[in-house]
Amino acid sequence: MAAEILDGKAIAAEVRAAVARDVEAFAEQFGGARPGLATILVGDDPASAVYVNGKQKACADVGMQGFNFPLAADAPRAEVVALIERLNADPEVSGILCQLPVPAHLDGVELTGLIDATKDVDGLTAVSAGLLALGREGLRPCTPSGVMHLLDVAGAELSGAEAVVIGRSNLFGKPMAQLLLGADATVTTCHSRTRDLAAVCRRADVLVAAVGRAEMVKADWVKPGATVIDVGMNRVDGKLVGDVEFAAVKEVARAITPVPGGVGPMTIAFLLRNTLQAARMQRAATVPA
Ligand code: NAP
Repeated sequence: MAAEILDGKAIAAEVRAAVARDVEAFAEQFGGARPGLATILVGDDPASAVYVNGKQKACADVGMQGFNFPLAADAPRAEVVALIERLNADPEVSGILCQLPVPAHLDGVELTGLIDATKDVDGLTAVSAGLLALGREGLRPCTPSGVMHLLDVAGAELSGAEAVVIGRSNLFGKPMAQLLLGADATVTTCHSRTRDLAAVCRRADVLVAAVGRAEMVKADWVKPGATVIDVGMNRVDGKLVGDVEFAAVKEVARAITPVPGGVGPMTIAFLLRNTLQAARMQRAATVPA
């Protein structure tokens, strides 16, 4: 039987609608105050500008404040650092995002690390990564959070399940594995040195591919009845293609995400949710017990 196709666009729209409702409740509770997302865009990379504009528009759509700070491509490190410090101290700003990549004279990891952990809506600072590893409350990276939501909607049983994540990036693979572990899955993280990747993948009840290699995961890598999440985004002949050979794998899997329209739309939805969560955490920290 062909797999259920998980409609990320529709599921993300539901998440955004829920955030919009929660933003109104937040404003009502806190005298009209609204969560606010500050984006920092250094340079004029057109793709980054499109991403930042998309995030700002998404903020406006759910009734949040948006503050965009475009800086010149040759902005000195001190200028970016001063801006991050100012935004860290600004109570109107709930979340801060430094769009990556930054120009070569800057260090994106270092700059991201300067963002206050309570405003780290990308969930990429060492503090956020540490809180995730410890299973403590904190802001989680947006795309892995979106995948957890898709798995929930798909009804995937995670407790005790074999979960395999292909990819070990700080941005996705590592936090994804941590979130699955936190949900009591038995997690294997694969990478370019993994021996017999196909055999490891065949063990998976939940298979998450985040490699960046078009259609690498074949149907005979997938256990019948598995839930398959395709995070990959590859351009092939002008078309967006995932890391999973969708047409063949959907005949084996129980549920699967398409590319495009699967994981992709979840990222901004969870950025909005993180911004709201950050605003709530900041309010909780300032309200006397
Ligand atoms: P990345 O930093 O390039 O990491 C890729 C990972 O894949 C690495 O851990 C690498 O292993 C592993 N890998 C490479 N070749 C492999 C092979 N032949 N067999 C097994 N593992 C292999 O990429 P990323 O940032 O995690 O992103 C991965 C993909 O997800 C990309 O296509 C990206 O565009 C997409 N993505 C999409 C979203 C979204 O939809 N919003 C968000 C994030 C990422 P090593 O560590 O050994 O090099």
